[in-house]
Amino acid sequence: MESKPNILMERYELGRLLGQGTFGKVYYARSAVTNQSVAIKAIDKDKVMRTGQGDRIKREISVMKLARHPNIIQLFEVMATKSKIFFVIEYAKGGELFNKVAKGKLKEEVAHKYFKQLINAVDFCHSRGVYHRDIKPENILLDENGNLKVSDFGLSALVESKQQDIMLHTPCGTPAYVAPEVIKRKGYDGAKADIWSCGIVLFVLLAGYLPFHDSNLIEMYKKISKAELKCPSWFQPEVCKLLGDILDPNPDTRISIAKIKEHNWFKNVPNARNKKPQVENNTVSSSGTIVSDQNNENDGLEAEAKEDSVVPISINAFDIISLSSGFDLSRFFKDNVEKRETRFSSKLPASVIISKMEDIAKQLRMKIKKKAAGLLKLEGFSEGRKGVLSIDTEIFEVTPHFHLVEVKKSNGDTLEYQKILKEDIRPALQDIVWVWQSDQQLQSQLSDQQLQIHDQQQQQSQS
Ligand code: ATP
Ligand code: MG
Repeated sequence: MESKPNILMERYELGRLLGQGTFGKVYYARSAVTNQSVAIKAIDKDKVMRTGQGDRIKREISVMKLARHPNIIQLFEVMATKSKIFFVIEYAKGGELFNKVAKGKLKEEVAHKYFKQLINAVDFCHSRGVYHRDIKPENILLDENGNLKVSDFGLSALVESKQQDIMLHTPCGTPAYVAPEVIKRKGYDGAKADIWSCGIVLFVLLAGYLPFHDSNLIEMYKKISKAELKCPSWFQPEVCKLLGDILDPNPDTRISIAKIKEHNWFKNVPNARNKKPQVENNTVSSSGTIVSDQNNENDGLEAEAKEDSVVPISINAFDIISLSSGFDLSRFFKDNVEKRETRFSSKLPASVIISKMEDIAKQLRMKIKKKAAGLLKLEGFSEGRKGVLSIDTEIFEVTPHFHLVEVKKSNGDTLEYQKILKEDIRPALQDIVWVWQSDQQLQSQLSDQQLQIHDQQQQQSQS
């Protein structure tokens, strides 16, 4: 018998499990609307709640929604159900970068390319005040073109709570990428800690093994704290020097990203040093070294070029659905069903929406109490059980032809309001509504159940 595809929140067809982290699972999925491949990270809400980081996560999410960089896994939208938060993110088809290292150390120019892309991504986020704090193999992915994509940027609130008990349980495997000052649990600078982790990544790419390692955790901590770096014989002196500056146990003297970017090894494609200049693609710099300006997507230069042109995203219908839940994630953290307002998006101008609400008022024999920019207040004539019923309609302009509308009760009896909403207002609005946002929430309970069924099906098919 053919099983029905699992559709999450009516919009994503769930596929195989891509991996599992501390806070939840990551699935492959496909948008039922655009057919685009995505990854969905499902986090248990109560695990986040326990960390008391709800507000910070919301803030970080809103930052990440506006930031786009070719080497950062993009966050498309955030959805939530009663028990889970779903991050819909860019799918990295190439999987983890370190699967490549598992097959042996990388060539210097390949490691150079990835390191450059990594530093560009980290620099971009730091310039926007976002620190990763958990740069490690599982978070460095590759897309289908072999370009590096850093994931989990913007989720550092989750990381922080994890680090609080890093010494106690190390729930997520190895702390090998964590800076000494983080291990020592001193207050630390997120930027400096990220730079350290990038240094460990570079070492592993070039060497094929960790610089500070021991099977005994306490011994490993000691090695990280001392940071006695031994570069293998095949490392170029220049890269050894750079690694020494990055893996400086003292965060105050550790090299900055700006200085890394000025470093000779960083600026010059390593392999080009031994090659003859190729007239078309390479130029000889004033110092006599050959600089490739072959701007293909593989050498990280494109990332740099695009970086300058990064602007807040222009909003589209897809974003609106996501923003409307992303802005107000608090509703999902509390289960506040009674006060829930009704929201919808409309493709009609504000004037049409307002005159529609005025028609509804007439029909319901309610008077128009106030009409201001973007706000319409309706009031009943008769006293109900809890006073006069009043209904507010607020209209938020996204573009002149795209509005988010919120309808809510501001006074009166809830039951009476809900009855009117269901029987009169919603049907009357039907022809101006594009999407009912609240339906997404009704979907949520269903989706929780679907996810469970999906997991069970996968387990069955594996066994
Ligand atoms: P943590 O819980 O500390 O964040 P983690 O980073 O390993 O650990 P997740 O971020 O939940 O946990 O990711 C789990 C795994 O899923 C990753 O190791 C990675 O292999 C895979 N994965 C995550 N995001 C994507 C993505 N966008 N595309 C493809 N695979 C991904
Ligand atoms: Mg991750």
